[in-house]
Amino acid sequence: MSNLAVENNQSAIMNTYSRFPVKLVKGKGSYVWDDKGNTFLDYTSGIATCNLGHVPEQVQSKLKEQLDLLWHCSNLYGIPNQEKLAELLTTNSTFDQVFFCNSGAEANEAAIKLAKKYAKDQGNPERTEIVTFKNSFHGRTGITMAATAQEKIHQGFTPLTQGFRYLSLNDYHALSEIDNGKTTAVLLEMVQGEGGVLPADKNWMKELEKVCKENDILLMIDEVQTGMGRTGSLFAYEQYGIEADVMTLAKGLGSGVPIGAMLANNKAGASFQPGTHGSTFGGNPLAASAGIATMESLLKEDFLTEVKAKSSWFYDELTKLQQDFQVVEEVRGLGFLVGIQLSEKAGPWIKQFREKGILVLAAGANVLRVLPPLTTTKEELKQFVNTFHELLTETEEITS
Ligand SMILES: *Cc1c(COP(=O)(O)O)cnc(C)c1O
Repeated sequence: MSNLAVENNQSAIMNTYSRFPVKLVKGKGSYVWDDKGNTFLDYTSGIATCNLGHVPEQVQSKLKEQLDLLWHCSNLYGIPNQEKLAELLTTNSTFDQVFFCNSGAEANEAAIKLAKKYAKDQGNPERTEIVTFKNSFHGRTGITMAATAQEKIHQGFTPLTQGFRYLSLNDYHALSEIDNGKTTAVLLEMVQGEGGVLPADKNWMKELEKVCKENDILLMIDEVQTGMGRTGSLFAYEQYGIEADVMTLAKGLGSGVPIGAMLANNKAGASFQPGTHGSTFGGNPLAASAGIATMESLLKEDFLTEVKAKSSWFYDELTKLQQDFQVVEEVRGLGFLVGIQLSEKAGPWIKQFREKGILVLAAGANVLRVLPPLTTTKEELKQFVNTFHELLTETEEITS
């Protein structure tokens, strides 16, 4: 390491994140501890990943069991854990087949590849374009970065991969522009997460589904953030009453063990055959065991009903704060994917929350993104609400 790097207090880690000044070393349930012994209520859930809280016992014991058996083997062999996880995913969704990978971006890459091949298999080689939506987030790889319709993500990386067309979410006029004769698929989040916690409108989604069906365009939903119970149902699309052709998952799928998945119905899935796509690690025995335990936990009776009840109480409390304090402009989201639109930058609020022992995130400049673990208790939610009330009162006193 150069002296300059030491002077600037840099480590050997490449400088790709502006990290918060906290080093986390331990977690249990809704709480994490830093290297100095400070405790934080973690309402980031590792960005919608630790949906069952940190080190959930059911997943931990399944992983420990698997650690003594087999960690990894190639996808050239049968992997019973992967088969079981695929079965859990398909029997609890409208999809028929699963391809396993390691991350959200990889799952979206697989979906995009599938959509291109699907058009060719249908005898429509001119259909090479995929429609995505402004403020979306689909990943950081070459292709998913191009699918992501946010200029700040593209900056410095032109020329971008061709073939993506960006329209506006919830825009009825945009529906007439979906099929330009070259479109093979539409890819979208049910609730735009990174882009500002912006839910797709239900009626608009229904119309979008219709346009896709009528024109043999694949409807592909990116549930990397909204899936795995995050929004109060196992998958967010259930609350929209739509049926998509393809769905991608990652974040919450392994409770923190890296695993991603691309699910498809048989119609779309048939375009992947031996040799068309693959992954070394995707769905290996260890990662798949975490996925199985996670699914089993989410499917437990009343688990998701409680998430819905807890989150609806939380919205009520936050809405009260919105009524009492001008800085809170809007509270929106679905289940425990919560966005609080502020009239000012979210950054200083994140810092103030941290100083009071609560971790939250931003989504865009002015939006606080609050992602409680689905297992969070009413007491913990109250801790958040009370702390927010305290901070809002302090701010009001300063400004008035
Ligand atoms: C996080 C996220 C991704 C990217 O996932 P990675 O695992 O970071 O590659 C893609 N889509 C959505 C909606 C996400 O929230």
